[in-house]
Amino acid sequence: MKAVVDADTRRVEVRQVPDAQIEDPGDVVIRVTSSAICGTDLHLDDGRAGAERGLVLGHEPLGTIEEVGPAVTLLKRGERVAVPTHLFCGLCCNCIRGYTAACLRVRPGSFGAAYGYAGMGPYRGAQAQLLRVPYADANCVSVPGEPGDQLEDDLVLLADAFVTGWHATELAEVTRPAAWRSSAPGLLAADSVTPPGCGTWWWPAAPDPAASSPTMAAWRTRPACTSASTAAPTG
Ligand SMILES: [Zn+2]
Ligand SMILES: [Zn+2]
Repeated sequence: MKAVVDADTRRVEVRQVPDAQIEDPGDVVIRVTSSAICGTDLHLDDGRAGAERGLVLGHEPLGTIEEVGPAVTLLKRGERVAVPTHLFCGLCCNCIRGYTAACLRVRPGSFGAAYGYAGMGPYRGAQAQLLRVPYADANCVSVPGEPGDQLEDDLVLLADAFVTGWHATELAEVTRPAAWRSSAPGLLAADSVTPPGCGTWWWPAAPDPAASSPTMAAWRTRPACTSASTAAPTG
């Protein structure tokens, strides 16, 4: 399969690497149809994270299930799924309490794991044609539609960016958003707490690079609510 690998400091390459495959009975292999690039990937690109050269990058995939391990019970071949960044077992005491990012089983001797990241376990990344997903019943989120449809660019954000933005607003108990020179997760955080039909306080009014994505373009076409919005662009 082809994959994006960390070739050197500030250099990534598309290389041919061994196909992802089923390694444990609870695995699936997904064919990746979209894979987002994260700000976190920049730590690897800058050489600050201590990644081994050749690491397959990426942790924000959307795809369809290509192969199903014999212990998987909730998923079937061809199903469309988003896969969260932090993989987890769903069964240990931390997972059961909801602290899945601190799963005790996915990285023996430590806790928590992620795809395609230095120091987060042996899991190859998702900027690849195929991805092995361990503990697949816990880690695959079934989503509607077909690959390449009008939901493709939105659903891929469920793997990390949108839920990260939403989670930040939950932790901070945000009720009224404002965005200053925000990154995509910041815009999505604002969107998470903006009631339908209402806008957000924005600065600056000029479009930023994140606005070029279809999702951000859609955000900006939402109808504005005058009581919540004074600055363009909100609708
Ligand atoms: Zn990410
Ligand atoms: Zn666990």
